[in-house]
Amino acid sequence: APLLQVRGLTARYGHVRALEATDLTVDRGELVAILGPNGAGKSTLLRAILGLVANTGEVRSEGVVLPRADPVAVASAGIVLVPEGRGIFGPMTVAENLRLGAYRVRDRREVERRLARTFELFPRLSERLGQTAGSMSGGEQQMVAIGRALMADPKVLLLDEPSLGLAPRVTAEILETLRRLNQSGLSVVLVEQKAPLALELAVRVHLLSLGRTVAVISPDQVKSHD
Ligand code: ADP
Ligand code: ADP
Repeated sequence: APLLQVRGLTARYGHVRALEATDLTVDRGELVAILGPNGAGKSTLLRAILGLVANTGEVRSEGVVLPRADPVAVASAGIVLVPEGRGIFGPMTVAENLRLGAYRVRDRREVERRLARTFELFPRLSERLGQTAGSMSGGEQQMVAIGRALMADPKVLLLDEPSLGLAPRVTAEILETLRRLNQSGLSVVLVEQKAPLALELAVRVHLLSLGRTVAVISPDQVKSHD
């Protein structure tokens, strides 16, 4: 069974329907991109997968149906979100933010092992451990956010516009990191408004508009849809 399978997912804010009958499948080692304009429902799709917004439909992890409004159960299934705006704690240090990602891990050596793996991926973070996250650059904050998610040892990493507000060079650096992670076997769902670089990584691209999936295409078909 796929690592993540979404079927007929519909979500609403009060009476505002933000996502209509959406399907999404992510297999082991796949990177799937979700593209669409502002307001298309991309963030809502990620939030609905986590159970953070009222929804109907089905989310399965390795064939098992996940409870509908239970973010902890979804996290336990290894589905971890790096939210829009990163969701890190500005007044806390880099080390504290990273350790929070592994708060459910009791074995201290395991936490240290995961920290070491995160520093392999983001060497810069290991030199800034005592610095408050809020005092770092946007790109570094995004690294803290991704690092914290990785500390949970996810099976599927969901990212909501990681490039938002970052310079092109920094975006390229973040995407290169995602490529490495994906090549090492991590499954990824990458939400972006439009991202030529992201397309190079994706096996499939879902185009969203007004809460609906208007097409599921291969990256090289995206240009003709523009
Ligand atoms: P995207 O991530 O593609 O920009 P969103 O998922 O954020 O789109 O939004 C989809 C729709 O849901 C939009 O019409 C947006 O205005 C609406 N929406 C998003 N968040 C809320 C909210 N908290 N309350 C009410 N409506 C919301
Ligand atoms: P590992 O067994 O440590 O994942 P890989 O060769 O599979 O080793 O990983 C390739 C790169 O991606 C390494 O730099 C590794 O540190 C990093 N990496 C892979 N998975 C994760 C993860 N869940 N958290 C942090 N770093 C990871």
